[in-house]
Amino acid sequence: MKEFANWSGVHRRRVEGWHQPSSEEEVATILDRARRSGQVVKVVGAGHSWSAAACTQGHAINLDRMDRVLEVDRARCRVRVEAGMRLRDLNARLAREGLAMRNLGSISEQSVAGAISTGTHGTGASFGCLSTLVRGLTLMTAAGERLEITARDEELFAAARLGLGALGVVTEVELECEPAFQLAEEAVGLPFEEAADALLDKVERHEHVKLWWLPHTDRAMIYAWDRTDAPATAGPGQGGALRGLVERAVGGGEGVDLGRVADTWINANVFDGLLRLGARTPALIPRINQMISEVYFVDRRRVGRSDAVFNLAMPPVHRELEYGIPLEAAPEALRRLKALIDRRGLRVNFIVEVRFMAADDLWLSPGYGRASCQLGAYMAEAPDLLAYFTLTESLFLEYGGRPHWGKEFFASHPVLRQALPRLDDFAALRRRLDPHGRFNNAFLRRVFGA
Ligand SMILES: Cc1cc2nc3c(=O)[nH]c(=O)nc-3n(C[C@H](O)[C@H](O)[C@H](O)COP(=O)(O)OP(=O)(O)OC[C@H]3O[C@@H](n4cnc5c(N)ncnc54)[C@H](O)[C@@H]3O)c2cc1C
Repeated sequence: MKEFANWSGVHRRRVEGWHQPSSEEEVATILDRARRSGQVVKVVGAGHSWSAAACTQGHAINLDRMDRVLEVDRARCRVRVEAGMRLRDLNARLAREGLAMRNLGSISEQSVAGAISTGTHGTGASFGCLSTLVRGLTLMTAAGERLEITARDEELFAAARLGLGALGVVTEVELECEPAFQLAEEAVGLPFEEAADALLDKVERHEHVKLWWLPHTDRAMIYAWDRTDAPATAGPGQGGALRGLVERAVGGGEGVDLGRVADTWINANVFDGLLRLGARTPALIPRINQMISEVYFVDRRRVGRSDAVFNLAMPPVHRELEYGIPLEAAPEALRRLKALIDRRGLRVNFIVEVRFMAADDLWLSPGYGRASCQLGAYMAEAPDLLAYFTLTESLFLEYGGRPHWGKEFFASHPVLRQALPRLDDFAALRRRLDPHGRFNNAFLRRVFGA
């Protein structure tokens, strides 16, 4: 019996069966068998959700073998891929075609279908989550139907592009891209209050803006990225002076992104070690944070290929909770979060991240009908983690917050109904497409109350 574990290792499940189909025919056969024997099934993408969205004790279907590019239309900037394709492979292929994803999150390890199914996003007030880039998708339903869904199928399109794996198996996705581009990054460290004051102005003036703040310090970083024709620079990396040392130790090599190698090593060894130290002795966390912020939060400018600037080196293992709140509430909510940490004496060992997302029409999106500030509270295992997450969630809910489905949250159906105006519409569609709960799991029962 195979055990499924998500990226953080928090969710582990023994599954009854593990299936890796390599074609839609094979997916149809698995669904047919499940229908006849009353099995429950769940698609597992790359397992990178912090939530239990991809968990099942029934049969898991993983589309790692359905990872091909099916069509590239350079003139229309469109690409059609099999749904199991990883974003990192898609980025590489798009670059060879002179194309690029318009926006990306911090990593590209996710599968395309997994990323869109939870509303994975990057940052930028005029950029929606990745689901908004979907121009068409193919869905295989519990009844064995193959639905090709486009904007013409209004309701299905609004639901299935961010479907939580609740409506069926997504087998193909057509995405809108744009011509390949470079990004200029400007990263500036500011005292916390000044950063909170400057944030919304920055968001208006730049294409992509995010803020990082490490609790117990008074310094926040604002990162701004804009498209540029300037050539790529070798600019300093995230790890500042420490990164320079590691780069020298690791040495070079053709085709090696030295900076990325160094950052990954620092995250996995130095940063991870400090997190463990703080977990054992939480009183040290403020001092550790101070030290990390001095080394890590360095002003910098650089120009690079879009995906290399959007993406970060893999962070050390940690857990994340994130909610979407109205964009204009960002500075106040950030200040209240800081006050909450101080008032409760919480020892928080990981950054708070503030990102932005355009309004969209996806029924389950945090950005449904309103521009969103995506406020993330992150933490590696340590004694205050649970208290931090629950208190933070209560604060975000005060702003009409809507959870990021791929991250941890505790709210369930009655609370979520208040925050998501189309949750009931989605539930009705789900009952129509999956009347016997073939794709159900504990996560969906909590979200939909059934
Ligand atoms: C280190 C790290 C960094 C991250 N950075 C960001 C970030 O910057 N921005 C952000 O928004 N999120 C981020 N995330 C969250 C991540 O993008 C999402 O949780 C995403 O859903 C993970 O994709 P996956 O392929 O691993 O899907 P999984 O976690 O395996 O599955 C997620 C959901 O998609 C469903 N699903 C997967 N494939 C299919 C399919 N073919 N058909 C139907 N349903 C399917 C599953 O059933 C499940 O409900 C990050 C996660 C990690 C671990």
